Amino acid sequence: MVWGIIGAMPSEIALLKAQMSGIKQETVSGLTYYSGKIRGKEVVLCCSEIGKVNAAMCAQTMVLRYGVGCLINTGVAGCTCDDLDVLDIVLSRDLVFHDYDWALQEKYHPHTSKFPGDPGLIALAQLALEQMPQRMFRYKLGRIATGDVFVEQEALREDIIRRTHPDCVEMEGAAIALVAYSNQIPCLVIRSMSDNANGDAGMSFDTFEAAAADHSAKLLLAMLEQSDA
Ligand code: SAH
Repeated sequence: MVWGIIGAMPSEIALLKAQMSGIKQETVSGLTYYSGKIRGKEVVLCCSEIGKVNAAMCAQTMVLRYGVGCLINTGVAGCTCDDLDVLDIVLSRDLVFHDYDWALQEKYHPHTSKFPGDPGLIALAQLALEQMPQRMFRYKLGRIATGDVFVEQEALREDIIRRTHPDCVEMEGAAIALVAYSNQIPCLVIRSMSDNANGDAGMSFDTFEAAAADHSAKLLLAMLEQSDA
């Protein structure tokens, strides 16, 4: 199986790219795809750039051109729950769009507004987390809400929480999950908290982006190591 791995920003794929051997690269529609092996597993890795359309374009290219058997999105997010803090991790129990009318999504393709994380990939992530020596952060299985906005206004944060009840917000995950769902491919989104999606989010993001991105990537490295797929 080829693992399709997407990060939206260079910081989110840096550690993974550094661990990749036999790298071949190709640019398709303006995005660069790195094929090779990480921890002995066949991987295609790409920095999709920010936002839902970029992420969807990247995910669909991975499916059609590279024949990936799963899609993993790794990166950072703004925390919207009370029981996690910066650098803690959310695994996608499910993903939703916070800026798309759920009724329309349910009426037309893809006829659902909630995109589940794959149980097998979730179990693999949980196993890898439990076996991490001296893990200094918490994690939870939760809801990730995606939209084309950096959430840093208190009113928007509260509105998104009221409407969609997420544990964190970001800008790509549900788009990648929708592509996976449409192609019947297992998907998991891993997000480490860079900020609290509030008035301090900009500063917190600048401070914690790199460390949070590495937390998420380290978990994915541990999953690749443990997997026999
Ligand atoms: N202030 C940064 C914002 C970049 S966009 C800048 O101007 O460069 C934020 C990226 O991190 C997106 O890819 C998104 O998925 C994730 N993210 C982290 N915190 C977020 C938040 N509070 N709201 C939305 N996306 C967030």
